[in-house]
Amino acid sequence: MRSYRKELWFNIPARRAFVNITPQIEECLRESGIKNGLLLCNAMHITASVFINDDESGLHLDYEAWLEKLAPHEPVSQYLHNRTGEDNGDAHLKRQVMGREVVVAITEGKLDFGTWEQIFYGEFDGRRKKRVLVKIIGE
Ligand code: ZN
Repeated sequence: MRSYRKELWFNIPARRAFVNITPQIEECLRESGIKNGLLLCNAMHITASVFINDDESGLHLDYEAWLEKLAPHEPVSQYLHNRTGEDNGDAHLKRQVMGREVVVAITEGKLDFGTWEQIFYGEFDGRRKKRVLVKIIGE
């Protein structure tokens, strides 16, 4: 069995954004040389997500509106977590809803996606450097 590990770095200039990272993940897969196995991709921060869905701009605006309804950023005083002096209580909750990681089957050297599936990095407390882990095992 072979194994591959890489960290991808992001520095999103806004507080929140969704980035399609499928091309970077496909590059990792090529680099690994693994043809059949499993790929894990996870955010290495508790205020960011990795998730799979459609690359459709209306949907991304829907996510933004829905997450803001569930966990509005303002007023920051509504979150006990922000008593630490941070202002990212909402970002921890948004991350929980959108998830930490994805696992994708690798078949014949390709990500074995369902229809329209793409991998996204979800940032909820940006404007600083953050990492995503890519781990691939197989042969
Ligand atoms: Zn925090």
